Amino acid sequence: MHVRFWGVRGSVASSGSNVAKIGGNTSCLELESHGHRLIFDAGTGLRALGDSLIKSPPVKATMLFSHLHWDHVQGFPFFGPAFMPTSELTLYGPGADGEQLLQSVLKNQMEPPNFPVPLTAMRARMDFRSAVPNRVIETGPFRVTPFELPHPQGCIGYHVEADGFRFAYCTDVEMTLESLRTEVGDRLAGVDALVLDAQYTRDEYEGRVGPPKKGWGHSTNVDAARIAKAVGAQRLFLFHHDPGHVDTQVEDMAEEARAYFPMSEPARENKHITLG
Ligand SMILES: [Zn+2]
Ligand SMILES: [Zn+2]
Repeated sequence: MHVRFWGVRGSVASSGSNVAKIGGNTSCLELESHGHRLIFDAGTGLRALGDSLIKSPPVKATMLFSHLHWDHVQGFPFFGPAFMPTSELTLYGPGADGEQLLQSVLKNQMEPPNFPVPLTAMRARMDFRSAVPNRVIETGPFRVTPFELPHPQGCIGYHVEADGFRFAYCTDVEMTLESLRTEVGDRLAGVDALVLDAQYTRDEYEGRVGPPKKGWGHSTNVDAARIAKAVGAQRLFLFHHDPGHVDTQVEDMAEEARAYFPMSEPARENKHITLG
């Protein structure tokens, strides 16, 4: 199972030489195994992923959305394969009504006054479905289990099993080790790689730097590391970096996380890892 990060930033994209090592694109992650492909979220990182896929058509992918905040959908209008009639996309929206919800959000963001080209200009075959918590999705070698996460307006985490390995995509979640729900902890237990929201420092979260971030839907680097240790994950990728954090701050936050869980590292754009 190959994992590649295409967008690791949260909230809004950032650019500049001081964020270039970590990367400024918003959430997008690719999992590939035996020619089958999962894409998690359609943040601005999706554009470059599309450009890479378009080189070897036909493109076939299953896209799984954690939720529909703009940093998780804004890359979709720029996803090249969606314009190709040979592409086949299966798109899972979050929750029991995810099918309708996702379709309307992707349609609305491409309508006036937001965008010049409508969703109907995309010629790919698109099959919209719902990612219902705890209802398993089987596709190719992947066995995917969606689960609920605490986040304003809700969010879905995804647990993936393939090739004897376990992976969890768990972004946009506000939790501490103390508030970790059993249902979430059980999904993260013993995973080989855990991608977890770690947007804030503790000082930012508590309001010692800027306004308090409690209730904004994100976790701290320290809580992410404490959770990774408690659930027995093998590796932790700190994810959904704050757009205001430059490379050195993100590296410092990873260093701080390693004091709690040594196998912590920041998710980096274009980083590729192989499980197995
Ligand atoms: Zn987000
Ligand atoms: Zn969000």
